[in-house]
Amino acid sequence: MKIRQISVFQVDLTLAGGGYYLSGGRLFFDRLDSTIVRVETDDGVHGWGESCPWGATYLPAHGKGARAAMDEFAPRLLGMDPRRIDRINEAMDVALPGHNYAKSAIDMACWDILGKHAGLSLCELLGGRVEGPVILHSSISTGTPEQMLANVDNAASRGYRIHSCKIGGEDIALDRARAQALAAHLPDAGALTLDVNRAWLPDQAIQVMNAVEDRSIYFEQPCETLDECLHVRRLTSNPIILDENIHTIHDIAHAWRSRICEAIGLKVGRVGGLTKARKIRDFCVAMGIRMNIEDTGGTVLADTAAVHLAQSTSTTHRRATWLCHDMCDDDIAPGQGARNAGGETSAPELPGIGVDLDGIEPGLLAAAYR
Ligand code: MG
Repeated sequence: MKIRQISVFQVDLTLAGGGYYLSGGRLFFDRLDSTIVRVETDDGVHGWGESCPWGATYLPAHGKGARAAMDEFAPRLLGMDPRRIDRINEAMDVALPGHNYAKSAIDMACWDILGKHAGLSLCELLGGRVEGPVILHSSISTGTPEQMLANVDNAASRGYRIHSCKIGGEDIALDRARAQALAAHLPDAGALTLDVNRAWLPDQAIQVMNAVEDRSIYFEQPCETLDECLHVRRLTSNPIILDENIHTIHDIAHAWRSRICEAIGLKVGRVGGLTKARKIRDFCVAMGIRMNIEDTGGTVLADTAAVHLAQSTSTTHRRATWLCHDMCDDDIAPGQGARNAGGETSAPELPGIGVDLDGIEPGLLAAAYR
């Protein structure tokens, strides 16, 4: 089996509710720029993949960058066997160091092809389905404490029991008020993550975190760097999740050796695709690190691929999964893939990822390599 064509589509996704604020309002998004690829083989099998950064200001990644990077490595993949996914990743890494988020789409499409070829759903190939649901978490935009409590209630009415609430700004008194209000408000059986998206300096992190008494509340990515987060880890007691700092398996190995975190946000796109994410997942399982397994953004395609990785991970090591498409007005594949069903979801049993975008608008085609 050989790759004979790679088609690249550009899709705009509109965030519902007029937009979303991270980090105390510093980062505002109302649309996402997603890149979707279709990898075709000479056997007639094709696979779908997606790379969708969370805007241009969240990580060193952006939609136009994904497509420009693809221009460097996609031509080199023509003629290769897409089922030899490590070889595909090696070829992409040789053609263009870094730019992992762009490679994620191709890697995902190759996994889709492998699953279709084998007649197995992706979660079976990634370690085997763990029976039972994949628990979801909401994503709550930052705002006043009152706005955030209302948004938690709205998410809870849609079944979400774990809430990832974005805080982090220069007004530490307001952050403390947000944290304490959310902690006090949490519905029974709910769980809370306060995601700072690296907005604090260590002194600010220590003040706010130590003002929250409930030790079951997780704080995510309090500061910009691993060293700053380590400083915070040593002077606070709540569990810490690292998210934006984890780009490679070396980052999580360093974080583990230094005992910086108890959990990570494993985002498929950020680490360069399912192949690299699976290695990090397996490291975390071996070392006792809990994970939120999801993607950085995208349609139901990227979400479903990430759900397959979660579905093949022991429940002991999983915390929650986020569905970006559940926050978007646009739906590229209605009725397909992993959907929110009362705060839970599950990976489709169809071969591959189980999301078919064959009806994608031809006018969205941005490039084709053949
Ligand atoms: Mg995060």
